[in-house]
Amino acid sequence: MINMVITYKNIVRIVKGTILRTNYGTLGASTSTLIYDNGKKILVDVGHYGNRLRLEEGLKNNGLSPSDIDYVILTHINWDHCANIDLFEKSVIFLHKREWEKGNLFGKEDLATKVFKQILLEKMKLKLIEDDMFKITENVYTLNTFGHTIGHISVLVKTEKGNVIISGDAIPYFRTIKKGYPDIIFYDKEDAKKSVNKVKELKPAIIIPGHSPPFNEDGYVERDEIEIRLVGDNGEDLVFKLNRVGEGVATGPFG
Ligand SMILES: [Zn+2]
Repeated sequence: MINMVITYKNIVRIVKGTILRTNYGTLGASTSTLIYDNGKKILVDVGHYGNRLRLEEGLKNNGLSPSDIDYVILTHINWDHCANIDLFEKSVIFLHKREWEKGNLFGKEDLATKVFKQILLEKMKLKLIEDDMFKITENVYTLNTFGHTIGHISVLVKTEKGNVIISGDAIPYFRTIKKGYPDIIFYDKEDAKKSVNKVKELKPAIIIPGHSPPFNEDGYVERDEIEIRLVGDNGEDLVFKLNRVGEGVATGPFG
Protein backbone atom coordinates (compact mmCIF):
# COMPACT_ATOMS: atom_id res chain seq x y z
CA MET A 1 0.00 0.00 0.00
CA ILE A 2 1.28 3.46 -0.88
CA ASN A 3 1.19 5.78 2.08
CA MET A 4 -0.39 9.14 1.53
CA VAL A 5 1.73 12.20 2.16
CA ILE A 6 0.05 14.84 4.25
CA THR A 7 -0.60 18.29 2.83
CA TYR A 8 -1.70 21.22 4.95
CA LYS A 9 -5.33 20.64 4.12
CA ASN A 10 -5.03 17.55 6.28
CA ILE A 11 -4.04 19.64 9.29
CA VAL A 12 -6.93 21.74 10.59
CA ARG A 13 -7.00 24.07 13.58
CA ILE A 14 -10.47 23.31 14.89
CA VAL A 15 -10.15 25.49 17.99
CA LYS A 16 -8.03 28.63 17.72
CA GLY A 17 -5.78 29.11 20.70
CA THR A 18 -5.33 32.50 22.25
CA ILE A 19 -3.72 34.29 25.16
CA LEU A 20 -6.01 36.33 27.34
CA ARG A 21 -4.65 37.31 30.71
CA THR A 22 -6.62 39.83 32.73
CA ASN A 23 -6.58 41.30 36.23
CA TYR A 24 -9.53 38.95 36.88
CA GLY A 25 -7.59 35.84 35.93
CA THR A 26 -6.50 33.89 32.92
CA LEU A 27 -8.90 33.02 30.13
CA GLY A 28 -6.44 31.51 27.69
CA ALA A 29 -7.65 28.90 25.24
CA SER A 30 -5.43 26.21 23.84
CA THR A 31 -5.30 25.31 20.18
CA SER A 32 -6.93 22.01 19.17
CA THR A 33 -5.56 20.63 15.93
CA LEU A 34 -7.04 17.85 13.83
CA ILE A 35 -4.74 15.76 11.64
CA TYR A 36 -5.82 13.26 9.00
CA ASP A 37 -3.16 10.68 8.21
CA ASN A 38 -3.55 7.44 6.29
CA GLY A 39 -7.16 6.88 7.30
CA LYS A 40 -6.69 7.91 10.94
CA LYS A 41 -8.04 11.02 12.62
CA ILE A 42 -5.80 12.46 15.29
CA LEU A 43 -6.61 15.34 17.62
CA VAL A 44 -3.87 17.27 19.43
CA ASP A 45 -5.15 18.83 22.69
CA VAL A 46 -8.81 19.15 23.60
CA GLY A 47 -9.05 22.45 25.48
CA HIS A 48 -10.95 23.37 28.64
CA TYR A 49 -14.65 23.52 29.54
CA GLY A 50 -14.87 27.15 28.44
CA ASN A 51 -14.28 26.08 24.85
CA ARG A 52 -15.98 22.68 24.97
CA LEU A 53 -18.77 23.89 22.64
CA ARG A 54 -16.18 25.38 20.26
CA LEU A 55 -14.43 22.01 20.16
CA GLU A 56 -17.63 20.13 19.38
CA GLU A 57 -18.56 22.77 16.78
CA GLY A 58 -15.08 22.51 15.22
CA LEU A 59 -15.43 18.75 14.89
CA LYS A 60 -18.94 19.10 13.49
CA ASN A 61 -17.73 21.59 10.88
CA ASN A 62 -15.45 18.82 9.68
CA GLY A 63 -18.29 16.30 9.62
CA LEU A 64 -17.06 14.61 12.80
CA SER A 65 -18.12 13.88 16.33
CA PRO A 66 -15.76 13.02 19.22
CA SER A 67 -16.38 9.28 18.67
CA ASP A 68 -14.84 9.56 15.18
CA ILE A 69 -11.43 10.50 16.57
CA ASP A 70 -9.02 7.55 16.59
CA TYR A 71 -6.21 9.11 18.61
CA VAL A 72 -5.94 12.06 20.97
CA ILE A 73 -2.47 13.37 21.81
CA LEU A 74 -2.26 15.54 24.93
CA THR A 75 0.77 17.82 24.86
CA HIS A 76 0.51 18.07 28.64
CA ILE A 77 -2.12 17.97 31.37
CA ASN A 78 -2.57 21.63 32.21
CA TRP A 79 -6.29 22.39 32.48
CA ASP A 80 -6.47 24.60 29.39
CA HIS A 81 -5.29 21.72 27.14
CA CYS A 82 -6.92 18.61 28.55
CA ALA A 83 -10.18 19.10 30.45
CA ASN A 84 -12.52 17.99 27.62
CA ILE A 85 -10.90 14.57 27.41
CA ASP A 86 -14.04 12.83 28.74
CA LEU A 87 -15.64 13.43 25.31
CA PHE A 88 -13.19 10.95 23.79
CA GLU A 89 -13.96 7.66 25.50
CA LYS A 90 -13.62 5.75 22.22
CA SER A 91 -10.22 7.22 21.29
CA VAL A 92 -6.78 6.04 22.33
CA ILE A 93 -5.23 8.82 24.44
CA PHE A 94 -1.47 9.40 24.17
CA LEU A 95 0.37 11.12 26.99
CA HIS A 96 4.02 11.09 28.03
CA LYS A 97 4.81 8.81 30.96
CA ARG A 98 6.63 11.59 32.85
CA GLU A 99 3.56 13.83 32.59
CA TRP A 100 1.32 11.00 33.78
CA GLU A 101 3.54 10.22 36.76
CA LYS A 102 4.56 13.70 37.87
CA GLY A 103 2.58 16.24 35.87
CA ASN A 104 0.55 18.84 37.73
CA LEU A 105 -0.82 22.32 37.38
CA PHE A 106 1.58 24.77 38.99
CA GLY A 107 4.55 22.63 39.98
CA LYS A 108 2.77 21.18 43.03
CA GLU A 109 -0.05 18.73 43.69
CA ASP A 110 -3.57 19.97 42.89
CA LEU A 111 -7.05 18.47 42.99
CA ALA A 112 -7.97 19.13 39.35
CA THR A 113 -4.98 17.12 38.09
CA LYS A 114 -5.69 14.33 40.56
CA VAL A 115 -9.30 14.02 39.37
CA PHE A 116 -8.20 14.34 35.75
CA LYS A 117 -5.80 11.42 36.18
CA GLN A 118 -8.59 9.33 37.71
CA ILE A 119 -10.75 9.96 34.63
CA LEU A 120 -7.87 8.93 32.36
CA LEU A 121 -7.27 5.81 34.37
CA GLU A 122 -10.85 4.70 34.85
CA LYS A 123 -12.62 5.77 31.68
CA MET A 124 -10.12 6.21 28.91
CA LYS A 125 -7.89 4.05 26.74
CA LEU A 126 -4.64 5.56 27.93
CA LYS A 127 -1.32 4.88 26.21
CA LEU A 128 1.79 6.23 27.87
CA ILE A 129 4.71 7.29 25.70
CA GLU A 130 8.30 6.79 26.83
CA ASP A 131 10.31 7.23 23.62
CA ASP A 132 11.23 10.39 21.79
CA MET A 133 9.94 10.52 18.19
CA PHE A 134 7.22 8.01 19.01
CA LYS A 135 5.34 7.04 15.86
CA ILE A 136 1.58 7.54 16.02
CA THR A 137 0.87 7.05 12.31
CA GLU A 138 2.97 7.04 9.14
CA ASN A 139 3.58 10.82 9.14
CA VAL A 140 2.82 11.77 12.74
CA TYR A 141 5.30 11.53 15.62
CA THR A 142 5.46 12.84 19.16
CA LEU A 143 8.48 14.87 20.14
CA ASN A 144 9.71 15.23 23.71
CA THR A 145 9.71 18.94 24.50
CA PHE A 146 10.03 18.98 28.29
CA GLY A 147 10.42 22.15 30.29
CA HIS A 148 7.09 23.99 30.37
CA THR A 149 5.96 20.90 32.28
CA ILE A 150 7.87 17.77 33.26
CA GLY A 151 6.54 15.59 30.44
CA HIS A 152 5.42 18.05 27.76
CA ILE A 153 5.37 16.71 24.19
CA SER A 154 4.91 18.35 20.80
CA VAL A 155 3.75 16.71 17.58
CA LEU A 156 5.74 16.47 14.36
CA VAL A 157 3.80 16.04 11.14
CA LYS A 158 5.74 15.24 7.98
CA THR A 159 4.14 16.93 4.99
CA GLU A 160 5.09 17.44 1.36
CA LYS A 161 5.82 21.07 2.27
CA GLY A 162 8.15 20.12 5.12
CA ASN A 163 7.80 19.56 8.84
CA VAL A 164 4.83 21.00 10.68
CA ILE A 165 5.24 21.16 14.44
CA ILE A 166 2.27 21.39 16.76
CA SER A 167 4.15 22.79 19.70
CA GLY A 168 1.68 23.17 22.58
CA ASP A 169 3.15 25.33 25.33
CA ALA A 170 6.77 24.44 24.54
CA ILE A 171 6.28 27.30 22.05
CA PRO A 172 2.94 28.96 22.87
CA TYR A 173 3.38 31.89 20.43
CA PHE A 174 5.88 33.48 18.03
CA ARG A 175 7.66 35.57 20.68
CA THR A 176 9.01 32.34 22.22
CA ILE A 177 11.09 31.64 19.11
CA LYS A 178 12.84 35.00 19.42
CA LYS A 179 13.17 34.86 23.20
CA GLY A 180 14.37 31.25 23.24
CA TYR A 181 12.05 29.94 25.95
CA PRO A 182 8.35 30.23 26.86
CA ASP A 183 7.17 32.96 29.24
CA ILE A 184 5.57 30.41 31.55
CA ILE A 185 7.69 27.52 32.81
CA PHE A 186 6.37 25.18 35.49
CA TYR A 187 9.24 22.70 35.44
CA ASP A 188 12.71 23.59 34.13
CA LYS A 189 14.03 26.59 32.18
CA GLU A 190 17.08 24.83 30.71
CA ASP A 191 14.90 21.98 29.44
CA ALA A 192 12.46 24.54 28.05
CA LYS A 193 15.29 26.26 26.13
CA LYS A 194 16.54 22.93 24.78
CA SER A 195 13.03 22.13 23.59
CA VAL A 196 12.72 25.40 21.66
CA ASN A 197 16.09 24.69 20.00
CA LYS A 198 15.06 21.13 19.25
CA VAL A 199 11.99 22.38 17.38
CA LYS A 200 14.08 25.00 15.51
CA GLU A 201 16.58 22.33 14.42
CA LEU A 202 13.78 20.44 12.71
CA LYS A 203 13.43 23.52 10.47
CA PRO A 204 9.65 23.54 10.60
CA ALA A 205 7.86 25.03 7.63
CA ILE A 206 5.03 25.97 10.00
CA ILE A 207 4.58 25.90 13.75
CA ILE A 208 1.06 25.60 15.11
CA PRO A 209 1.52 26.84 18.67
CA GLY A 210 -0.52 26.34 21.83
CA HIS A 211 -1.89 29.85 22.15
CA SER A 212 -1.74 31.80 18.90
CA PRO A 213 -2.17 31.46 15.13
CA PRO A 214 0.38 29.45 13.10
CA PHE A 215 3.68 31.08 12.14
CA ASN A 216 6.88 30.50 10.21
CA GLU A 217 10.34 31.98 10.80
CA ASP A 218 9.18 35.36 9.48
CA GLY A 219 6.12 35.66 11.71
CA TYR A 220 2.43 34.83 11.72
CA VAL A 221 0.91 33.37 8.57
CA GLU A 222 -2.66 33.74 9.81
CA ARG A 223 -4.42 36.24 12.03
CA ASP A 224 -7.21 35.52 14.47
CA GLU A 225 -9.71 38.10 15.66
CA ILE A 226 -10.31 38.17 19.39
CA GLU A 227 -13.73 39.39 20.50
CA ILE A 228 -14.26 40.38 24.12
CA ARG A 229 -17.84 40.92 25.23
CA LEU A 230 -18.73 42.74 28.45
CA VAL A 231 -22.06 44.07 29.74
CA GLY A 232 -22.45 47.83 30.21
CA ASP A 233 -24.34 49.67 32.99
CA ASN A 234 -27.45 50.02 30.86
CA GLY A 235 -27.52 46.39 29.84
CA GLU A 236 -25.82 47.05 26.53
CA ASP A 237 -23.13 44.82 25.11
CA LEU A 238 -19.64 46.27 25.11
CA VAL A 239 -17.74 44.50 22.37
CA PHE A 240 -14.02 44.82 21.83
CA LYS A 241 -12.45 43.32 18.77
CA LEU A 242 -8.72 42.86 18.54
CA ASN A 243 -6.88 41.92 15.40
CA ARG A 244 -3.47 40.46 15.77
CA VAL A 245 -0.92 42.33 13.70
CA GLY A 246 2.53 40.81 13.89
CA GLU A 247 3.55 40.17 17.45
CA GLY A 248 1.16 41.32 20.11
CA VAL A 249 0.17 44.63 18.51
CA ALA A 250 -3.54 45.30 18.68
CA THR A 251 -5.67 47.50 16.48
CA GLY A 252 -9.31 48.33 16.94
CA PRO A 253 -10.86 50.00 19.99
CA PHE A 254 -7.67 49.72 22.03
CA GLY A 255 -5.24 50.60 19.29
ZN1 LIG B 1 -1.58 26.42 27.70
